[in-house]
Amino acid sequence: MCCQLLEKPKVVLLAGGVGGAKMAEGLAGIAGIDLKIIGNIADDEAFHGLWVSPDIDTLTYSLAGVINRQQGWGLADEGDRALTMLKSLGADTWMFLGDKDFGLHIYRTARRAKGDRPSQIAADIATSLGVSVPLLLPTDDVVQTRVQTDDGSISFQEYFVKLRCAPDVRALSFEGVEQARPTSETLAAIEAADLIVFAPSNPLVSIGPILAIPGIKEALLNAPARKIAVSPIIAGGVVKGPADRMMASLGLEASALGIARHYAQIIDALVIDRQDADSAKNIEALGIAAFSEDILMRSKKDKIRLAHAVLDYGFAMSDYHVEALP
Ligand code: GDP
Ligand code: CA
Repeated sequence: MCCQLLEKPKVVLLAGGVGGAKMAEGLAGIAGIDLKIIGNIADDEAFHGLWVSPDIDTLTYSLAGVINRQQGWGLADEGDRALTMLKSLGADTWMFLGDKDFGLHIYRTARRAKGDRPSQIAADIATSLGVSVPLLLPTDDVVQTRVQTDDGSISFQEYFVKLRCAPDVRALSFEGVEQARPTSETLAAIEAADLIVFAPSNPLVSIGPILAIPGIKEALLNAPARKIAVSPIIAGGVVKGPADRMMASLGLEASALGIARHYAQIIDALVIDRQDADSAKNIEALGIAAFSEDILMRSKKDKIRLAHAVLDYGFAMSDYHVEALP
């Protein structure tokens, strides 16, 4: 429907890692849209002197078709010889980094050391791996999620990988975000977009840091495009990861309605699972259009089907208004 109304509509996707990459693959599989993806860099961390950017790499590897499909992250057909050597040298090796993956981190780190723009490096890596969709970084500055637990503040990867999301999250902060500047490519993409899609990514630690970079939320609010999100929560739980527990411990309801409330100021529509269809009325009472679909993406077919639905809903909404209740 969208593509009959507009010539190559410009679609911008805000995405984290695994959930973001599934939506990215779906949208990238649709001919006739001009897609750009804005990824999350706040999970980035240095390991063994190398700069690792997990969410950007998940997007890149997924779109390049070289991702480990079972895990949803990392490369297929990986080895662990570099990590084994590091371990035998006494290094801390709780963060799994595969042999081929190490090659990418070496390349990224060397180019950063030369002073190249992180955005350019990410774009070059994606192009080299055969990804044709522009992958934008929201900022070239370093912004890192910190997780406040009862035992103190830890990095996101310490929380996520080392401690397997076990600690209760008391607060989240994005170190460096106040000084961070958005990239001109990100602002231009948001401004020019015909539709902006929020992937079913963790709203707090994947989409949250993108929105926290000064100027990005404002750009989204000012953008003429409709904004449509896909819920990462299905029937009160996550498909994977800690988003539900994180939301609950930070006082947000871990439900499709909780996602709607969290994004209420910024989105026009939310795609929820059919299992959550009875939340639609309460979501629409917030002034957000609610659409029920099967939003679990198991296969490539699921991803493309959901992407088509998101585009159809998003573009049809140009004439769609729901009034917020007083
Ligand atoms: P991460 O950076 O790797 O943690 O990935 P994201 O932040 O992009 O995505 C994590 C979220 O994706 C979790 O909250 C999951 O519930 C959600 N998710 C994963 N797969 C699916 C799916 O197939 N459908 C939907 N709706 N959400 C998904
Ligand atoms: Ca992530």
